[in-house]
Amino acid sequence: MHVETLGDGRPEYTILACVHGDETCGWHALNRLKAGDVTLQAPVKFVLANERAFKLGYRFCDTDLNRAMPGDASSDQHEVRLAARLRRELEGTTVIDFHSTESRGCPYAIATGGDAASRRLARSTGLDRLVDMSYVGGGVTEHVTGIAIECGYYDDEGAASSAHRILLHFLAAEGLIDRPYVRSTPTVYEVFGDASGRGFEFVAENFRRVEAGEVFATKNGSVRRADEAFYPVLMSTYGYEERIGFMAQRAAPVAE
Ligand SMILES: [Zn+2]
Repeated sequence: MHVETLGDGRPEYTILACVHGDETCGWHALNRLKAGDVTLQAPVKFVLANERAFKLGYRFCDTDLNRAMPGDASSDQHEVRLAARLRRELEGTTVIDFHSTESRGCPYAIATGGDAASRRLARSTGLDRLVDMSYVGGGVTEHVTGIAIECGYYDDEGAASSAHRILLHFLAAEGLIDRPYVRSTPTVYEVFGDASGRGFEFVAENFRRVEAGEVFATKNGSVRRADEAFYPVLMSTYGYEERIGFMAQRAAPVAE
């Protein structure tokens, strides 16, 4: 794990990158922030979480860090030990956690833990969609005030640019840099179910309502139809081994 503090003093915010080692957009966003001419009004911590996997170009070494919290310092698995260190590092700070994804529909914010403070952070990102993953649980930001961002499809230049733009907007809206911003009122998608299955092609569109009875995935001539209407989120053909993605319902937008 690589940790650095920008500015002097005790940081109240953490910019988190590479919880998944092959999702480098947050790392690029930080480097662009440092190369730019912005002045931080308060210290900010930067954490490159899975430095070992990042250097190897892997998502993880032993197990998914985003599913390893709260961790165990004596584990023989790299990410389980790392989770325990990461938990201490994030404690007491407000976290923005950058990811990229193999599903389409980016960028959007993800909140876990069901707390209003984390959901409110989505407004500072300027993004118009918030996925509430409290149903699924886990995630490194579950036990802190924090928000994750899915910046783009795969880990390309577009994801890095989008991470940089979102980071600047977030820092401005949280009063950490002096720059124009407009807080958004994101539409909330609350995940209520898991569309499991292996080898399916996802044929619907993330964030577009699938009606009851509508086909949303196919496999060797067979089809998966919706039992009830839902909004697909993080659904894809290749994103997960054992699942197509998640089913969500629309909820009231994030309040002030
Ligand atoms: Zn990720």
